[in-house]
Amino acid sequence: MSEPRPSLNVYFDVDHTLVYPTQAASALRPGAREAMARIKAAGHGVYVWSAGGQTYSERTVERHGLGAWVDGCFDKHPRVDPPPDVIIDDDWYLVEKYGGYLVSQYKAVNERDRELLDVAGRILGPR
Ligand SMILES: [Mg+2]
Repeated sequence: MSEPRPSLNVYFDVDHTLVYPTQAASALRPGAREAMARIKAAGHGVYVWSAGGQTYSERTVERHGLGAWVDGCFDKHPRVDPPPDVIIDDDWYLVEKYGGYLVSQYKAVNERDRELLDVAGRILGPR
């Protein structure tokens, strides 16, 4: 029997991590739903936060149909509750600060992008 792993609070950044934002649209990064679903199914908390604010985070989740996996949406605030254990972000400074995984900036639609799935795999370890 394997040791139960502790539940983690996993925070996804919005702009250039989960989505490629433009003035007119918002393109979801490939693998976003599956990455969230896998993290959630493993018993972890899935959160979305953005410097654009809580409402922007909520709208992004609604717009892309991510609500089934997301436990909360927040402004990107240092004392956010629950505290982040792992963040996924395109800003290395924040990844250094909070701990987590850096992704490249998603700045153009790319159906071959697999970075969110790769990060989920690294968080969850081998299946
Ligand atoms: Mg970002």
